[in-house]
Amino acid sequence: MVEKLSAVKGMNDILPPESARWEWLEDRVRSLMSRYAYRNIRTPVLEHTRLFVRSIGEVTDIVEKEMYTFEDRSDKHGQADLLTLRPENTASVVRAVTEHNLLYDGGKRLYYMGPMFRRERPQRGRYRQFHQIGAEALGFAGPDVDAELIFLAAALWRELGLSDWRLEINCLGQPEERARHRAQLIAYFEQHLDDLDEEARRRLHSNPLRILDTKNPAMQAVVGQAPRLIDFLGASSVRHFEGLQAMLDAGGIAWSLNPRLVRGLDYYNLTVFEFVTDRLGAQGTICAGGRYDGLIGQMGGKSAPAVGWALGVERVLELLKEQGVDAVASAPDAYAVIPELDSVPRVLACLQALRQAGVSVQMHAPSGGQAEGMGSMKSQFKRADASGARFALIFGAEELAQGCVAVKPLRGASDQAQQLESLTGVQAWAGRLLGAR
Ligand code: ATP
Ligand code: MG
Repeated sequence: MVEKLSAVKGMNDILPPESARWEWLEDRVRSLMSRYAYRNIRTPVLEHTRLFVRSIGEVTDIVEKEMYTFEDRSDKHGQADLLTLRPENTASVVRAVTEHNLLYDGGKRLYYMGPMFRRERPQRGRYRQFHQIGAEALGFAGPDVDAELIFLAAALWRELGLSDWRLEINCLGQPEERARHRAQLIAYFEQHLDDLDEEARRRLHSNPLRILDTKNPAMQAVVGQAPRLIDFLGASSVRHFEGLQAMLDAGGIAWSLNPRLVRGLDYYNLTVFEFVTDRLGAQGTICAGGRYDGLIGQMGGKSAPAVGWALGVERVLELLKEQGVDAVASAPDAYAVIPELDSVPRVLACLQALRQAGVSVQMHAPSGGQAEGMGSMKSQFKRADASGARFALIFGAEELAQGCVAVKPLRGASDQAQQLESLTGVQAWAGRLLGAR
């Protein structure tokens, strides 16, 4: 017996009909992005490991334990390189923008979609290969672009029919403000060492801000009483944050302040935000983002401000399902029933014309190959039914002899009568098939 192969744990196949929901979502995203004038960027799935270590930060869950990293085979000069499957896309976007000097003539608005890889414990809403859609605006400093990005996400929820979300925002200030807060935070946690779990104690001096983001219920009390970063903000940070709030209010987007909101990556400053839902259990964040004004400079580019977000496609689709937003139909308009094998060449030509006219057609093809013939009419009609098509096109020998095909309405169009249509004048009746959509 040959061993049966299966996919890597935590990595999913996306199969029809489920894949139609993905395409439906992606279509809406593309259309919306173009209305907001965000343009597509595609970066490689593999990058140098040091790109992520330098951008995401050494003391983060992702870099400490979640990356898929391997040593590339040595090149000619005997130098091996460490490569990593991207755990997120912002670092790659910043690298590409810097490498190709994209900001030379002003700011850029970009979006991406694609798979990301993190070696986490697989569970509902948390996978090892998952998919993000992200938007990044680089080269713009003001809260107006923060607001634009939040409007963009909210518009997407509206177009998808998602209603069960809330927006949380916070301001992380600037590095100097964070440094003052950090000192107070460490002092506070040192007084409450007994309430900290092992991971928090380990991070106490390397990344205390991340302790605020703990998912450990036993630590909620000690974290709730901790000094708040928002109380350490200077005038300029406060102005940025209040500016954003005013724009969100003017745009009619409800938000709430979450002073404990920090991000799992080190590069954020000023605005951070999350769209969350209570309907997906512990994996309730569907979209997260913020400002990262220091990152481009830190990655060796000419310093420029930037802001962006990323949404988790699996979680958004799961939430749509929870809310009962209907799966999209992916059935063809018509199914071609072909009684005689000999007719196939003429049928193929007619189907080409139909498809050119915009009609989607599934052709009957026997699973046993041509040697076994086309199969009985009964079995062909069973297939036609299962395909979900609204019409059967019957290419019988008699019809073909007259230069015609019989168009038989199936589900949804069954109030119409069967009609004979001409093989040469496809344009004249293709519209009728499309009209039944
Ligand atoms: P979480 O707190 O849920 O681990 P995160 O802070 O690590 O999320 P980000 O790095 O900000 O997440 O990624 C943005 C979005 O990508 C998340 O809000 C979530 O919707 C999605 N996401 C992140 N990790 C995963 C994963 N392992 N599986 C599925 N979706 C994910
Ligand atoms: Mg995470």
